[in-house]
Amino acid sequence: MNGSLSLRDRLARQVRDIPRSGIRDFFDIVSTMRDVISLSIGEPDFDTPWHVREYTVFALERGATHYTSNLGYLELRRALSRYVAQQFGAEYNPETEILVTVGVSEALDLALRALINPGDEVLYHEPCYVSYRALVLFAHGVPVAVETRPEDGFRLTRAMLEARVTPRTKVLLLNFPNNPTGAVMDRRDLEDIADFVRKHDLLVITDEIYAELTYDAPHVSLVSLPGMRERTIFLHGFSKAWAMTGFRLGYACAPPELTEAMMKIHQYTMLCASSLSQKAALEALTRPEQDVREMVDEYRRRRNFVASALRDLGLPCSQPRGAFYAFPEIRRFGLTSKEFALRLLQEEKVAAVPGTAFGDCGEGFLRCAYATGMEQLKEAMKRLGRFIARLEKA
Ligand code: PLP
Repeated sequence: MNGSLSLRDRLARQVRDIPRSGIRDFFDIVSTMRDVISLSIGEPDFDTPWHVREYTVFALERGATHYTSNLGYLELRRALSRYVAQQFGAEYNPETEILVTVGVSEALDLALRALINPGDEVLYHEPCYVSYRALVLFAHGVPVAVETRPEDGFRLTRAMLEARVTPRTKVLLLNFPNNPTGAVMDRRDLEDIADFVRKHDLLVITDEIYAELTYDAPHVSLVSLPGMRERTIFLHGFSKAWAMTGFRLGYACAPPELTEAMMKIHQYTMLCASSLSQKAALEALTRPEQDVREMVDEYRRRRNFVASALRDLGLPCSQPRGAFYAFPEIRRFGLTSKEFALRLLQEEKVAAVPGTAFGDCGEGFLRCAYATGMEQLKEAMKRLGRFIARLEKA
C-alpha cells in the first residue's frame, strides 16, 4: 500500500474533484418514495416505434450479434449520410466522415478528447446538459461557462461569447434545442455565432440531439451555414426523437481528420456500438417522418399546457421552443432551487430538478420535463399550485 494515503486520495484528481451529478442525487431521493409524479426525467415516455422493436428482434434472430466495423455498419452510415443531408443540410461521406457511437454521450466524450490538449479552454453555454463540464474536465480541458439569460430566451449571443473568449479558447460546445431551457437558435442567431467562430478560428462541437423536437419553426443546424461544416463535429442520436434511450445509439459527423481522431479512441475503448442497436437505428431511419411527427405533436400540446400553467401560477417561464423541458423561475419564494425542489417533492410528491444541476446560473430555476402524459402533467400543476399557495401564505 502507498503509505497512509486512503483509496480516495489515490484517485485521479480530475475524477475525485468532480461532484456527483446533481440529477443523480435527486433521483436517489425520488427512488425511495412512492406515488411521485416525475417531471424530472429527460427521457421520452413514448414506446420505441413498434416496427423498430420488431426489426431488432428479427435482426437478433438472423444472428446480428457480432462486432461490426469500428465505424459502424456501412449500410447504417449510408442511411445516416442521407438523413443528415436531408434534415440538417450538410453532406458527409459515409466511408470517412461518420462514426456510430454508444449514444451522443460517447460521441461527446470522443469529440472532446480528440480535440483538447491539457489547458485548452472550451466555451459552452449554461444552463446546460449536466455532462458537459465534467467531460471537459475528464479531457483535461478548462471549462468556460457562458451564462445565458431568460430575458434573451436563453439564447446565446455573440457579445456573450466575445466577453469570455481568450487566446487559449479552442472549442465552442453548443446545444440547441437546449436541455434544460428548451431554447432554440434561429438562422440569424447562428450566423452571428458562425462569424464569431470564424473570427477566432475555433472548432465547434454541436450537440443537436433534440433537433427533431421543435414546436414553432423547423430546426436550423449550425453545419448548414457556410464554412461551419469544415470545423465542426456534429452530434446526433436516436434517444430522444425515436424514444430509444436504452438502445444507446448516436453518431458523430465531421471532416475525415476529426472522425479519424475520434475513431482512434473509440476503436480501443468501445470497438463498436451494439450491433443490434445499429440494426434498430437502420430501421428507425426508414420512416422518420411518421414516427417522429406523432410524438412532436403530442409534445407541442404538452408544451403549450405546461408553459401557460406555469405562468398562470405566477412563475415566469421563457417559452420553450424545443426539446421537452420548461425552465420556470422560482426565485421570488426566497428558497434556493434545491430547497424548493426538495420541499415540492416531500410535500406534494412532484419531482422536478433544481436548476443548479445545470450550472450555477440555474439558481432560482426549476427544470420541469414534459415527457410525461397529459393527465400526470395536469395533476402535477395542480399540486405545484397548492404548494405555491402555501409558500405565499407563510
Ligand atoms: N446531450 C444532451 C443535450 C442530452 O440532454 C442528453 C440526454 O439527456 C444526451 C446528450 C445524451 O444522449 P444519449 O442518450 O444519446 O447518450
